Amino acid sequence: MAYHESSELAADYAKAALAKMAALNVVPQPQNFEIWYCYYAGTNPELKQTLDVILRKKEKFTEVLNNELYDRFFGLSHEAAEIQKASDRIQSAVTRVLEYLGDSNSDVSSYGEALETMSGKIENETDMGALRTTVASILAETKRMAVKSRKLEGQLKSATDEIVELHEHIQYIRQEATTDALTGLPNRKHFDDQLKLSIQQAQDGKEALCLVMADIDHFKKFNDNYGHLLGDQVLWLVANTLIECVKGRDIPARFGGEEFVVILPRTNIHGAKKVGHEIRTRVASKKVIRKATGEDLGAITLSLGVAQYHPGETVESLIQRADNALYRAKNQGRNQVVAEASYDSDVAMQG
Ligand code: GH3
Ligand code: MG
Ligand code: MG
Repeated sequence: MAYHESSELAADYAKAALAKMAALNVVPQPQNFEIWYCYYAGTNPELKQTLDVILRKKEKFTEVLNNELYDRFFGLSHEAAEIQKASDRIQSAVTRVLEYLGDSNSDVSSYGEALETMSGKIENETDMGALRTTVASILAETKRMAVKSRKLEGQLKSATDEIVELHEHIQYIRQEATTDALTGLPNRKHFDDQLKLSIQQAQDGKEALCLVMADIDHFKKFNDNYGHLLGDQVLWLVANTLIECVKGRDIPARFGGEEFVVILPRTNIHGAKKVGHEIRTRVASKKVIRKATGEDLGAITLSLGVAQYHPGETVESLIQRADNALYRAKNQGRNQVVAEASYDSDVAMQG
């Protein structure tokens, strides 16, 4: 992200950012500083709005949350910069190849001209000695050309190797930027992009679109009882169960922390409730065992909220309605699926 303010303004933003970070107990490292500097500079309204909501809710800025914020708002610009660097290098490799080919073209045509002159000479030559000299010259020219074309071959090979390597690097960066490192699921950024796309496709109301939001029940207690590392493994388990329960065009993602989402294109609320139900029962049926001791840590349960897209509404509104349904699932006792109130019976699915 580019900042264009004067140095006095920049100093004001920096001071405000550091003071706020200190007040919120946010570790003053560069990534966090970038978030809060941007907050005061106002360069990204979405970031400002998100932080304001978190501040209003008085949520704690934990390390997990800080990392998520950074990935969400700055991950892409860093990814874009990396991709720009790689594509500049590809551009220069291609330019080099074109130069080699240009040089080789002029080499080939001067070789051709030399051969032509010499073959003319051969045609009219009667003297054996002169003929031998001409043939020797042809041989010398041909050798020179062979050396040049070997050099060209080497140059072309190293340029193509570099291009192939950069191409793979770009694919890796893209993949990394859209994947959650802990669970391997698509991350929040990918979810945001995909939901926008899905909404565009469902805009005309011809096809239904649903969103499922899932939140692990009492996960804080699990972490407190068994430690964060085992907690991380539970997140991995839930993520993999999610993958087992969806298919084809459905898009599961880690929304953040212990919350997961699934975008269900071409699915109405009834279908979405079934998917939610399947996820809930499958997760609950998995045994969580501490490997070292064989200790059974009990079942993990999820609460889920399901909402169907209303043509014309915003992304935020759809997420909000799924979140409201999830909130009700929590309030009604957890370990259940609740569909948004505007659809049918508002029935919680249990059992
Ligand atoms: P509820 O049933 O109401 O959802 O209760 P809860 O304890 O699950 O919800 P709460 O929001 O109070 O706590 C969420 C917990 O999720 C706290 C946090 O430590 C944990 N958590 C979030 N991200 C991670 C993570 O990446 N790894 C681990 N191990 N825990 C995480
Ligand atoms: Mg939660
Ligand atoms: Mg929870």
